[in-house]
Amino acid sequence: MGKSEGWEIPAAEAVRVTPDTRVGDLDTNGTPGFAGGKSLGEKLLEERGAVLSDLQEKLFAHGRATNEHRSVLLVLQGMDTAGKGGVVRHVIGHVDPQGVDHASFGVPTPEEKRHHYLWRIRKALPRHGQLGVFDRSHYEDVLVVRVHDLVPRSEWEPRYDEINAFEKELVDSGTTVVKVAMFVSLDEQKARLAERLERRDKYWKYNPNDVTERGYWPQYQEAYQAMLDRTSTEHAPWHVVPCDRKWYSRLVVTELLIDALERLDLDWPAATFDVETEKRRLADS
Ligand code: ADP
Repeated sequence: MGKSEGWEIPAAEAVRVTPDTRVGDLDTNGTPGFAGGKSLGEKLLEERGAVLSDLQEKLFAHGRATNEHRSVLLVLQGMDTAGKGGVVRHVIGHVDPQGVDHASFGVPTPEEKRHHYLWRIRKALPRHGQLGVFDRSHYEDVLVVRVHDLVPRSEWEPRYDEINAFEKELVDSGTTVVKVAMFVSLDEQKARLAERLERRDKYWKYNPNDVTERGYWPQYQEAYQAMLDRTSTEHAPWHVVPCDRKWYSRLVVTELLIDALERLDLDWPAATFDVETEKRRLADS
């Protein structure tokens, strides 16, 4: 991917996980790779959102014109208030909704509990030509499940390898997997939760359990670290995105999707009819 305005390092490189990434040392207020501030970031979000929209339309058109499976799956993982919903609204919001397969994953329903944890994930995978978005994902099964011992270690431990194999299968079948781990600081999370308690229009977002989960911050950091260490692969690497500044996290995710779609190198489908003949027929009609 080339550099675009404002970026000193291409976004995908700037936030790509490395073996040295330490969740506990992240500067969640940082803007890795980006030289500008909020006003440039917000201006670029609009401009790049339009680019994303064009690329997504190409993916959709390609899906209509061929049987060769291509899709992109954005996986969003992060603690409460990290801004997953904001990414869906302000990044994915730039593209045509008919080209988006969105799914969110909460506490498994009784039916989901009767199945393997990947069952509900497989059902929600993006269709051919679609941009899929997972708001939470199969990674909950090595995060919340690990932190709260919802199943014994002997059961969650093998999931890292299983998830890698599952994602390899996806990539081999033509799905580009873009994984984004979103991080806010404990203080910023507190401020965002406090705002929800101050505003009548935000009560619906407030969940008393979010405060309980704050008590498990070190355990979550450990679980996120293990997730990054064990499931960042060549075929589906993790990106670690600081999220205290919402404009930055949204801009980075936009760039990651643009990068993924550009790498598909799709062209507009050729006409399946003779263009000149059709022009004449139309003029005469
Ligand atoms: P959000 O908090 O993202 O708005 P919900 O209120 O629907 O969404 O619920 C998400 C909750 O579901 C989170 O607390 C999350 O940890 C939990 N969750 C998601 N997947 C699982 C899972 N596999 N097992 C247990 N809890 C899960």
